[in-house]
Amino acid sequence: MPIQYSLFESVAEMKFREIIWEEIDYAKPTKVKDVCKIIKDYYWEQTKNESKAVKIVPDKPEFVFLHKAYSIYHPDWMEKTHGLDVAYFYVDKAPDQWNNQCFYFELDECHVTDNHLGYSFFQKGGGINKERDVKKCCREAISGIKNDAKRKAIGATCTITGEILTWDNIDIHHEDLSFRELLANWIENKGGVDLLYKKVNVTVGNNAITEFTDEDLIKDFQEYHNSHTHLIPLTKKGHAIMHCKKEK
Ligand SMILES: [Zn+2]
Repeated sequence: MPIQYSLFESVAEMKFREIIWEEIDYAKPTKVKDVCKIIKDYYWEQTKNESKAVKIVPDKPEFVFLHKAYSIYHPDWMEKTHGLDVAYFYVDKAPDQWNNQCFYFELDECHVTDNHLGYSFFQKGGGINKERDVKKCCREAISGIKNDAKRKAIGATCTITGEILTWDNIDIHHEDLSFRELLANWIENKGGVDLLYKKVNVTVGNNAITEFTDEDLIKDFQEYHNSHTHLIPLTKKGHAIMHCKKEK
């Protein structure tokens, strides 16, 4: 009688093997969340008795999935990763929740302390998508300002690494107030996500830009941005070093 492989598998492992990566519908947040939970359980089972967490590396389909899912759904993905490349994910105990676990990420060139990623927010659906979309509008509102800053800095020297800034290596850092804090403060000042969401151009499909429909609101954010933070052009590597220093 042939050995039944499944007899040696745990439930977590079986569920993990059943995932069909090509068929995941990223438009459905509850589905995405379910897959996250299966990956989490599977990796936690491997990790919980080890001294070091098992890495989820870029050539694994689960890495590709997590990267895509978090960049689509996490409202602070850009600010948490600083737009830098993720080296790997891993599963460990959630901060302040001894009986629960969540994902963490490590960046290619840099360790940041705020590196945990919950997965329950997928479930909140509407609310969290509003926050994500409002923040997208804010990023869009200052994209021109960032591009101007880049254009002016091309050919100058990165103050951290000493490299010459080029279109391929340039990155923009927000000094004084991080972009994440700036977003949080401005959104609160303006009455919160629900109110601001009424001014979001809700777009269907992937090609359209998510932006505020109200020109005055765009100007307001631009002014708030310009008066509370300033932009420092650095190379991507310099930018990584900047955040390592600050948050380690
Ligand atoms: Zn930065």
